Amino acid sequence: MRVERGVVSVRTRRKTDVLDITELIRTALREMNTSEGILHIYVPHTTVGIVINEAESGLLHDIESLLEKLVPELEAYEHNRVDSNAHAHLRNVLTSSFVTVPISSGDLVLGTWQRILLVEGDGPRERTLLLTYVGL
Ligand code: ZN
Repeated sequence: MRVERGVVSVRTRRKTDVLDITELIRTALREMNTSEGILHIYVPHTTVGIVINEAESGLLHDIESLLEKLVPELEAYEHNRVDSNAHAHLRNVLTSSFVTVPISSGDLVLGTWQRILLVEGDGPRERTLLLTYVGL
């Protein structure tokens, strides 16, 4: 078993934002020594999540709309006593802090429509992604 690590920085654009980061991950993957294995992508933040889904532009807006509908920003959340971003934390618990993707021939194994999406809840910010490749 062989382990490789990488770090990717992403600048999100808006307060609520869904970004296709698949090519950024691919670029980082090419700089790592990978062949057959799995790639764990971890987001060490509490107001941004990572998911796998389609990156059709209308769907990206639909995801933003869904999160805004499920967790409206202007509610009397308790966390807003110490911070003003409770809605971003609550939207984050509906997503995930990591995804794991199979790697074959040094590339991501994704379905035809699958992309890796970063779901920003409290942007715009510089976000960090920690990559851990485990080779078989
Ligand atoms: Zn907070």
